[in-house]
Amino acid sequence: MADQPLGDMSRDEFRRYGYAVVDRIADYFEHIEDFPVLPQVQPGSLVAELPDSPPDMGENFGEVLGDVDRLIFPAVTHWNHPNFHGLFSTSTSSVGVFAEMFAAAFDMKAMLWRTSPASAELEDVVLDWLRQMVSLPDHFEGIIYDTASVSTMHAIAAARERVNLKIRDLGMSGRNDLPLLRVYCSEHVHSSIDKACVTLGLGTRSLRKIECNDRFEMIPERLAEAIDEDIEAGHIPICVIPTIGTTSTSSVDPVDAVADICEKHGVWLHVDAAYAGSAAIVPELQHLFKGWERADSIVTNPHKWLFTPFDLSVLYCRDLSLLKQTFSLVPEYLRTSEASSVKNGMDYGIQLGRRFRALKLWFVIRYFGREGLIARIREHCRLARLFASWVEESPDLELMAPVPFALVCFRACPAGVADLDALNERIMNEINASGEAYLSHTKLNGNITLRLSVGSIRVEEKHLRKVWRLLDEHLYQ
Ligand code: PLP
Repeated sequence: MADQPLGDMSRDEFRRYGYAVVDRIADYFEHIEDFPVLPQVQPGSLVAELPDSPPDMGENFGEVLGDVDRLIFPAVTHWNHPNFHGLFSTSTSSVGVFAEMFAAAFDMKAMLWRTSPASAELEDVVLDWLRQMVSLPDHFEGIIYDTASVSTMHAIAAARERVNLKIRDLGMSGRNDLPLLRVYCSEHVHSSIDKACVTLGLGTRSLRKIECNDRFEMIPERLAEAIDEDIEAGHIPICVIPTIGTTSTSSVDPVDAVADICEKHGVWLHVDAAYAGSAAIVPELQHLFKGWERADSIVTNPHKWLFTPFDLSVLYCRDLSLLKQTFSLVPEYLRTSEASSVKNGMDYGIQLGRRFRALKLWFVIRYFGREGLIARIREHCRLARLFASWVEESPDLELMAPVPFALVCFRACPAGVADLDALNERIMNEINASGEAYLSHTKLNGNITLRLSVGSIRVEEKHLRKVWRLLDEHLYQ
């Protein structure tokens, strides 16, 4: 296309290809189950198919779309497949896709209210809707980041600032006056907390992991002892991070009891509800969140279990101004006359430009409504309990952890098999290689444990029956 004119694609071309893309995505969703959940590719196979250098001249976009079919689809892991049960099963809804199209079209960088009034104001409104849906008190104000890893890092930074060691100005290096600062969490915490400590210069040494009971829940008495011991040794506790819905088992730390300990010592309480937070909209699950209303900050990820395409993580803070004190820094070229009367997203974190993410959550909440979302999450929990009941009834399988939400941890344990880890790994690898379903694993009390997460907007009981059949086939082969 040597004679390509300057400027963007013509409107006619945009319409033609735009309709083709929407058709392709519609077909994809309609036939999602024809794809293997895990792609049947080897590392490096896509690289081998692609040219080493970029094209000098623009190409026909129809050819590019053809390559999406030919090269990209075969290398996609289909998170939207209803039999994606590994890690946490997450999926997008169609309205989420529409929102991403608009967000890309607007291409706003939501740093200042002025550069993005729609993003700034919709974010406040939609986060207040979500706050009401998960029954948090109205002093919680939210901010959207990309991931829980980033949300939690910001929360720990604010917690560190609140202990008045002037770290924002003086930093941590080259100082003799800084004692060891401590962050506490359970043994089952997500690795993003370790990484946040690394990123913030606290180091993994600052992270004290508290023992769990046999339900994989933090033991509050051990936490209290650890904090007393640290204070005695001259360390400063800055933050405690219980999890509601841990990554390995979805266990629930006793947040209310942890909140008592935090209150006693004036320590920041950050609740990691990245996975399970969405389930707080379901009335009968509310008891699992007892005490989170006492937190200083809470992270929850609508991109995990609220049918919102990746990425959208929400950090709710009791006092968002502490986050602003920690991060706000306004150079001359970003000063605006309305700054004191608006919320400028750049003041609440390390990013300057921010994507227009609120739109997708707004679409999702409006399209499904509170009741529609409750019904879907409730059904996922029912399906997980159903699967767990099959496991419990089977003489050759056992449940490895309680099922508070929609994650089942189990393993095969037929009599007479010496190496159960090897057996379970084989079963998982064979099921995954079949492309029919995807399971992942963890280790509990030293034992390989299979994890089946139910969370796809497309999942039905027949999909769990399929996994059950696959287990049967691969266990008794
Ligand atoms: N916290 C918990 C409990 C998680 O399960 C996960 C991911 O699964 C995270 C944090 C990190 O989430 P993100 O990928 O949004 O950083």
